[in-house]
Amino acid sequence: MKETRSTCPYCGVGCGVIIHSEGAQITGVKGDPQHPANFGRLCSKGSTLQLSATAEVTLQTRLLQPLQRLVRGSTPQPVTWDSALHTATTKFAQIIRDYGPDAVGFYVSGQLLTEDYYVFNKLAKGLIGTNNIDTNSRLCMSSAVAGYKKTLGADAPPNCYDDVQFAQTLFIAGSNTAFAHPVLFRRIEDARRANPTQKMVVVDVRRTDTAEVADLFLQIQPGTDVMLFHGMLHLMLWEGWVDPAYMRAHTSGFDALKATVRDYTPDAVAATCGIRKEDLVLASRWFAGVDDSDVAHSRTPTLSLYCQGLNQSSAGTAKNAALINLHLACGQIGKPGAGPFSLTGQPNAMGGREVGGLANLLSAHRDLANPAHRAEVAALWGVSQVPDKPGKTAVEMFQAAADGEIKALWIACTNPAQSMPDQATVRRALERAEFVVLQEAFATTATCAYADLLLPATTWGEKDGTVTNSERRISRVRPAVAAPGDAHHGPRHDWAIAVDFAQRLEKLLVASTVPIEGLNQAQPTRSLFPYPTPESVWNEHRESTRGRDLDITGMSYQQLEERPLQWPMREGQSAGAQRLYEDGVFPTADGRAHFANVVYKPVAEARDARFPFSLTTGRLRDQWHGMSRTGTVGRLFGHVSEPAVLMHPQDMARRLLKEGDLVHLSSKRGAVVLPVQASKALAMSQLFMAMHWGEEFVSGLGAKGQRLSGVNALTTSAFCPDSKQPEFKHAAVKVVKA
Ligand code: SF4
Repeated sequence: MKETRSTCPYCGVGCGVIIHSEGAQITGVKGDPQHPANFGRLCSKGSTLQLSATAEVTLQTRLLQPLQRLVRGSTPQPVTWDSALHTATTKFAQIIRDYGPDAVGFYVSGQLLTEDYYVFNKLAKGLIGTNNIDTNSRLCMSSAVAGYKKTLGADAPPNCYDDVQFAQTLFIAGSNTAFAHPVLFRRIEDARRANPTQKMVVVDVRRTDTAEVADLFLQIQPGTDVMLFHGMLHLMLWEGWVDPAYMRAHTSGFDALKATVRDYTPDAVAATCGIRKEDLVLASRWFAGVDDSDVAHSRTPTLSLYCQGLNQSSAGTAKNAALINLHLACGQIGKPGAGPFSLTGQPNAMGGREVGGLANLLSAHRDLANPAHRAEVAALWGVSQVPDKPGKTAVEMFQAAADGEIKALWIACTNPAQSMPDQATVRRALERAEFVVLQEAFATTATCAYADLLLPATTWGEKDGTVTNSERRISRVRPAVAAPGDAHHGPRHDWAIAVDFAQRLEKLLVASTVPIEGLNQAQPTRSLFPYPTPESVWNEHRESTRGRDLDITGMSYQQLEERPLQWPMREGQSAGAQRLYEDGVFPTADGRAHFANVVYKPVAEARDARFPFSLTTGRLRDQWHGMSRTGTVGRLFGHVSEPAVLMHPQDMARRLLKEGDLVHLSSKRGAVVLPVQASKALAMSQLFMAMHWGEEFVSGLGAKGQRLSGVNALTTSAFCPDSKQPEFKHAAVKVVKA
C-alpha cells in the first residue's frame, strides 16, 4: 500500500489528507496529523473521499475520453485529443477573427488548482486579449475580496486558525460553520472547552447548528446585516467602547462614517433587523471587548468569522466593509485572536484570486483598472499589452452569451447549468452560444448536456499542484494514482489541457496570413506557455508576486514538500506570516486602513403580496456543491436523504400543509416541486432550501415553460454593484400545495 500526502478537495478549511492506494486504486483516506489546518481531523465529506473514487464510481460517473456533439441534443461521440483540441482551436480562432477577442469567454472554478488557474488567466488575458475570464469564486468570495480591498487595501485575510483559541469573543456572521467548515468548527469547540468564558455571537437568518451553541443568537431579517453592524457602531460610539487611539494612529475616513451611523439608532436597528435592543447592546459590548467596567485597557480580542451570508448578497461588499469597520473602530485587528476573518467556500478560491483569475483582477492581486499594473503583467508575460476593457463577470458573461454577444464559452471544472442563479438565463446562454467547451472530470453534471465538446479532466487523487486555504496557507495537492483510461485518450490535467490549446492557438496565429485583430501575436520562436510541469507554472506565478502583498518569492515546491506555508513569505524568509497588520500598517497609499462609509440597502427583491416568502439557500452538512462527487457516496445521504423546502410550522398550518406534502415553490423566474418540511429554525415568512439538489432530485419549469431544476430555478441574478456577486441568499417566492 502506498501513502500520498495531499489536500481535501472540498472546502476552504484546506485539510491535509493521507491517501492510501494500491496500484491504480485509491483504497482509503485519513487526516494528515501533521497538516496545520486539521492536525489529522476530517469531516464526514473528507473522510469518505475514497468512496467517491472507487472503480465502480469512476466507470459510472467519470468523463473518460474526449467527446464531440455534432448536433445539439445528440449523443456525443468519442474523438481523439488531437481532433478535439484541433476543433476547439479552429472554432475559437474563427470566432475571434470574425467577432473579436471579447466574443469568447472562459468560466473556470475555485476547484481548480493554482497552476490550472494561472494558465487559463494568461491564455485569456495574455494570448487571446480578452478579460472575459471569471470563475465560480465570483459566486462565493468576490464580496469578501471587495470588502477587504475597500477597507484594508488588499485582498488578504489577516488571521489564522490559531486565532480561534486566542479570541475572547467569536462573532460569526452569515456562516453555518458547523456544516460548511466542520473541522474549523471542531477547533471552535476545543477553544470553548479550553476557555469556558469565551463568548460566541452568531448572526444569521436561520437558527443553524452553529447558532444552537451560541451564547447570543441574533436572528436577523434577510439582508439587514449592514443595519446591524452600523447599529453596533452607533452604540459603541455612544457608550465610549471604540478605540480612538487606534483610529487616530492607523485609520482614516471615520468622520463621514460617524455621521452616517448617527441615524442607526437602537430602536431603528432593532425594528429593521427584528432583534431585541438588549441583544444589540450585548453583542456590541462583547464585540468591542470591554468588560463591565468598560475600561478600554482591558479590551479582550474579538475574531469575526463570516462567509456566504454576507457575501452572496446584492449588498455583499457593504456588509463585509461594515463588519470590518467595527474591527477598525475597536482596534480589533492585528493581534492574536482579533480580526475580520473571511472563510473561503471552495478549496482554492484564494489561489484563484492570487493569480488574478477574475474578470477584474490581474496576477498577484494586481488590478485590471490600474494602467501600471497592466503594464507590469504585460512585461512579466512578454506580451504587448493586457487589454483595459473590463471583462464580463459570471452573471454578466452568461447574460452576454444569452444576448448573443459572447459566442464561444470554455467552461472548466464547474457546473453553471446548476450552480448559477436564474437558471433560465444560464440555459438560454448555453443554447445560444455557437460553441461550448466543457472541461470536466464528471460526465454526470447538468452542463454536459449543453457542451459541443467535452474534454475529460483529472480530479482529486490524480492531480498535482497547489491550493491556498482560508488562512493564506499554500498546500501541495499530490497524485496518488494515475488518471483512469489510457494515456492517449484518458483524462488530462486541467493546466495541461489549457497549455495544449494555447500552444495550438499560438501556432495558428503565427501561421495566419490574416491578422486577428486585438490578439497579442506571440513571438514565433517562443511560446508564452513553456510549461512541462505544474511546478514550472507555479514558479512563474511565484515570480509575479515579487514585491506584492502576497509575495511568495521565499517559497518553493521543495519547501512545500516538507510543510504547507502561509503567505506572504518573501525571499530569504524561512516561514510565512501567521497574522497580518500587527504593525498597524496597511497596504494602502497612506498606510492607513480606510473606514468604508456604506449605507444599508434592503434585499434586491422584496417580498410582496404575490411572493410573500423569503427564500434563502445554503449547505447541508454532508454534501458538496452540485453533488457530482458527494452524490456518489451513499453514506452521505444518511444525514439528509432527500430534498425539501423548510418552513415554520405555523406558516404550514396556515396553509393547511402537512409534513411531506408536495408544494410548488415559485419565484418570478421559475418553479420547482418538492416536499415541505417543518422547521422552527426559520422565522415566520421565511423558507430554506439546500443548494445541492440538481435535476435528478428537484425538477421544475421556467417562466416560459422551459425545463429547469434545483433551487437556482428560483434565485435572482441581482448582484452587488461593487463585487458583482449575486444574491443567492434571498429571493421572494410563493408556496402552493401541489
Ligand atoms: Fe474537507 Fe473541509 Fe471537511 Fe476539511 S472541513 S475534511 S477541507 S470538507
